[in-house]
Amino acid sequence: MTVARILANKGHEVVTTQPHRTLLEVSKILCEKGIGAVVVTDAAGALLGIASERDIVRALGSSGVAALEDPVSRHMTARVVTTTRDSSVHSTMEMMTHGRFRHVPVVHNGRLEGLVSIGDMVKYRIAEIENERKALQEYIATA
Ligand code: AMP
Repeated sequence: MTVARILANKGHEVVTTQPHRTLLEVSKILCEKGIGAVVVTDAAGALLGIASERDIVRALGSSGVAALEDPVSRHMTARVVTTTRDSSVHSTMEMMTHGRFRHVPVVHNGRLEGLVSIGDMVKYRIAEIENERKALQEYIATA
C-alpha cells in the first residue's frame, strides 16, 4: 500500500510557515491547528525545513522562554527527509522509526503535496490489520 492511499483519506493540506516567524507564532499555529509540526517554506513555496513541537521544547529547555522570540529558522531541521506518493507505507514508517521523527512531507515533482504523520500511519495499519482479521475469519467460517 502506498502513501497516496493515506493522502486520499486525510487530504493534501500542509500547514506551512515562513522562516522569519517566531517560535511563539509557530506554537500558536500548532495549537490552533491541533498538529505537531509545520513545514517551513520560502515565499515561492520551496521546502526549507520542518519544525515540530520537539524543537520548541528543546529550545525552551536550553534557552528558556526568550527562545519564543527566535525565528523558527534557528530551531527547525533543515535536512528534511521526504517521501513520495508512490512510496510504500511500510518503507515510510521504517524511515520514521529509523530517523526518530513523526512527520514526513510528501513531495511530487519538487512540490509539497501532503504530509503524513506517524498517527496517520498507525491508523492505516490498524485498519489494514482489522481487514485482514475479518477476511481470515470469513475464510475460516466458509471453509
Ligand atoms: P517529530 O518526532 O516529528 O516531532 O520530530 C522530532 C525531530 O525530528 C525534530 O527535531 C524535527 O525537526 C525533526 N523532524 C521531524 N520530521 C522530520 C523529517 N521529515 N525529516 C527530518 N527531520 C524531521
